[in-house]
Amino acid sequence: MNRLTLYYAIESFFTMMSLPTTAPSFTLEQALAHWKTAKDELATVCQHAKGFYNQGWLMGTSGNLSYKVATTDTNEPLSFYVTASGLDKGNLSPADFIWTTTNATPCLAEETRKPSAECLLHEAIYTHVPSATVVYHIHSPLWTFISSQLPTESLPLGLGLPAIEMVKGLGAGSHTEQLSVLVLPNSQAMPELVALLAPQWEQLQVSGFVLQGHGLYTWGGSAFEAKRHVEIFEFLANQLYFQQLTN
Ligand SMILES: [Zn+2]
Repeated sequence: MNRLTLYYAIESFFTMMSLPTTAPSFTLEQALAHWKTAKDELATVCQHAKGFYNQGWLMGTSGNLSYKVATTDTNEPLSFYVTASGLDKGNLSPADFIWTTTNATPCLAEETRKPSAECLLHEAIYTHVPSATVVYHIHSPLWTFISSQLPTESLPLGLGLPAIEMVKGLGAGSHTEQLSVLVLPNSQAMPELVALLAPQWEQLQVSGFVLQGHGLYTWGGSAFEAKRHVEIFEFLANQLYFQQLTN
């Protein structure tokens, strides 16, 4: 396939007049291969985002979502598709995701949009959890409220999750197992949050963590699994809230 044919093949994605050029670590062929693999799963991610938006978990352009294409080339640097900054999450399309590599750097030289501000946390998750291919970050009202009730000086801490049937969906062996979710203090400085997370990866009991007064991060080996985790975390947050009301 010559370069012109390649360009026409991906024209609907790279809507520019000249051939797209990649960051030094990537080739145009990789750009095409990744996009071909990613576009269907990204369409599913967009559907999930609409569902989360309708639940009130991604309001006012908040939250961010990403998808990592699995590659067998061990020399290829990490890259993933992440939502561009400031988009309405109730109306996303696959073209709204920026192909991004480490340090929030777009893989295409012509990219003029900015990846989401929290891109570095997505990168940290993909780096420390190799099985993760989808990361969902929602500004959940319940997790925002519950985490706000904790004294900031006590963070990071593992917040106990209710020992109920649904906790099995996060990996508990039985409904009596007591798991906890990591809660971190919020910060506008993403490198600070990445550094706070660094010593915690080995101790995480569930596929997710909460930023105080901010929201939930969770992930999965597919969009389906990440969505399931979002829903289970939300169910458990409901239970924690009801517990607070009755105490
Ligand atoms: Zn956020």
